Amino acid sequence: MKQFALYNPTTLTEAAELLGADPPRTRLLAGGMDLLGRMKFRVDAPERVVNLKSIPGLDAIRETSEGLSLGPLVKLTDLAESPVAQKNYRALAQAAESVGSVQIRNSGTVGGNLCQHPRCWYYRHPDFPCLQKGGPICYAQGGENRYHAILGGGPCFFAHPSDLAPALIALDASAHIVGPKGERTVALEKLYRLPMEQLGVGLALEPGEIVGQIRVPAPKSETRSTYLKFKERPSFDFSLVGVAASLVLDGRKISAARLALSGVAPVPWRAVEAEKVLVGSPLDEATARKAAELVVEGSVPLLHNRYKISLTRTMVRRALLSLA
Ligand SMILES: Cc1cc2nc3c(=O)[nH]c(=O)nc-3n(C[C@H](O)[C@H](O)[C@H](O)COP(=O)(O)OP(=O)(O)OC[C@H]3O[C@@H](n4cnc5c(N)ncnc54)[C@H](O)[C@@H]3O)c2cc1C
Ligand code: SF4
Repeated sequence: MKQFALYNPTTLTEAAELLGADPPRTRLLAGGMDLLGRMKFRVDAPERVVNLKSIPGLDAIRETSEGLSLGPLVKLTDLAESPVAQKNYRALAQAAESVGSVQIRNSGTVGGNLCQHPRCWYYRHPDFPCLQKGGPICYAQGGENRYHAILGGGPCFFAHPSDLAPALIALDASAHIVGPKGERTVALEKLYRLPMEQLGVGLALEPGEIVGQIRVPAPKSETRSTYLKFKERPSFDFSLVGVAASLVLDGRKISAARLALSGVAPVPWRAVEAEKVLVGSPLDEATARKAAELVVEGSVPLLHNRYKISLTRTMVRRALLSLA
């Protein structure tokens, strides 16, 4: 690993200033499960590392009448085991529980999970200077692409890896962002950009900006939510397809719906057309099938990942029916 200077700020503003002072050569460190891996494999070689863990108070989970707030350093284990999350934000607790292994959940943080880089194997290999790393081509498009995107792909086709992101989007979360020029709050889905809009790692963060807090509004009564994940290796693995659904029920009818997926597109994929069909419909097999069909409408599989279309349909249907 290349030598680097380590900075230990004590406030988010100080961290943002350090990060913004020299963006190309500086990286932010949270739990390090992603960043240190990239550095060890020489995919990334920052000269300056800004340590978020030196800032006190960023690991709090708080519930108020307005909802839930999560500091960026909340450990995935603490989120998965939080009684508040388990009771009122079930999709979120399930998504946190589904991440990797115990060791990964004990070190990985909410902010790091949401901002992790693509898991595409070409991206993670130092010998493949792909588009996403400023190179000339996408090696996955004509190469080994069985884990890649079926929706929203091009010119890069990685599949968004975070399990937390779709769960938080289904729960209508927002991200409070702190930067060298000030603070702003955005709907969480706006934190991500498709490669066709912006190459990079798909994060809509300006140089120096840090995710300082995640806010989830208090759920309406009669809200039910879930996160259902399919992984190739049962012990621990990333999602081949992960489905987060949040429904408000009025008797048997759905009065509000939010649906978001991981593993199928380069961003956490919000299934807006399927949500429209869900609202006003009874929560039954026919509705779930119709919604599942709409989620995969327009999908464009690569040579080796056509299986993800039927897998996605099945996972969406099962996730929805589990809420009946
Ligand atoms: C073997 C393995 C299996 C895994 N399985 C899964 C899985 O099943 N599901 C899943 O969702 N994830 C999985 N992960 C990913 C893991 O959860 C993430 O790597 C981890 O959550 C990253 O969190 P971290 O705190 O370690 O982040 P770090 O490695 O410290 O940071 C990750 C990236 O985010 C940036 N960053 C960190 N915090 C912030 C912030 N607050 N604002 C802006 N940028 C920030 C860093 O600069 C860095 O680029 C797996 C990882 C490994 C190594
Ligand atoms: S899918 Fe994206 S990250 Fe993977 S090789 Fe292609 S350009 Fe690189």
